[in-house]
Amino acid sequence: MSAARPLPADLPRDLEAEILRLKKERNAILLAHYYQESEVQALADGVGDSLQLARAAQKADCEVIAFCGVHFMAETAKILNPHRKVVVPDLEAGCSLADGCPVDQFRAFVARHPGAKVVTYINSSAEVKAMSDLICTSSNAVKMVEHFEGQPVVFAPDRHLARWVAREANRPDLIVWQGICIVHEQFSAKRLAELRVKHPDAEVLAHPECDDAVLAQADTIGSTSRIIERAIESPAKTLIIATEDGVFHQIRRRVPEKTLLQAPGPDEGCACNRCPYMRLNTLEKLYLCLRDLEPEVTVPEEIRVRALRPIEKMLELSA
Ligand code: SF4
Repeated sequence: MSAARPLPADLPRDLEAEILRLKKERNAILLAHYYQESEVQALADGVGDSLQLARAAQKADCEVIAFCGVHFMAETAKILNPHRKVVVPDLEAGCSLADGCPVDQFRAFVARHPGAKVVTYINSSAEVKAMSDLICTSSNAVKMVEHFEGQPVVFAPDRHLARWVAREANRPDLIVWQGICIVHEQFSAKRLAELRVKHPDAEVLAHPECDDAVLAQADTIGSTSRIIERAIESPAKTLIIATEDGVFHQIRRRVPEKTLLQAPGPDEGCACNRCPYMRLNTLEKLYLCLRDLEPEVTVPEEIRVRALRPIEKMLELSA
């Protein structure tokens, strides 16, 4: 990946208006993950979790996709849209899960389990996807593993999601790659228990990338979109949420009367529920990427074709 570009001194004053103008001029759509800052989400044509964004990318009708998320998400959009230009505000926006599963080590891991089907979380590189039988997101991971009932399954790269899926799908035999999300792993079970004592009527919502001791205290465990859905429909007036900070924007927009509390990290006042990779995407960089149509995300055709198959299979099975 290239080094981050310095910001020019002559950025327009009204960045939002310029981004909307450029979006039209470039025949671009802007897709943003729920973990983006609220001002980025506000400009997007589509906001969603990984599954919703993959679906939106599949249906894209435009010349350019400007993807505000992390690299593996933009790669997925490119895999689904080989003839469209996919640009991102910052190429350095990676992910600890994707980065923690290098293709050579993963190939050796899979080779140690001959005959096993490979179900890979979408938070992985195009190369790792290309080695997989099926891709999953946190919305559909249980269903994707159930698809291979009676067959050995390698599940990668998130160990916490894997543990939850193994329980939900009754697959204690899952063969698990031991990756972690540096954001979701930070939530402290001890401090969450203390917070619950202070708010006994609060409902706890958690993402399955969290540690088991956190999940054990959750009333609802689910993907980002499931957490938002439950936060809206829940009769509880106070919600404790164990996932990335960006989802608060969507929940506040829909149910402003509810009290939203962040599940605590290990230290008082830490901002550890903010993904540092996602936060690399700023309005300034979004403006520049639409103006210059770079940095562009590319995937070698041979890898793209192999990675497309398990992604399309997932979209078909979760339709
Ligand atoms: S929140 Fe975790 S899983 Fe999501 S992009 Fe950031 S590091 Fe990756």
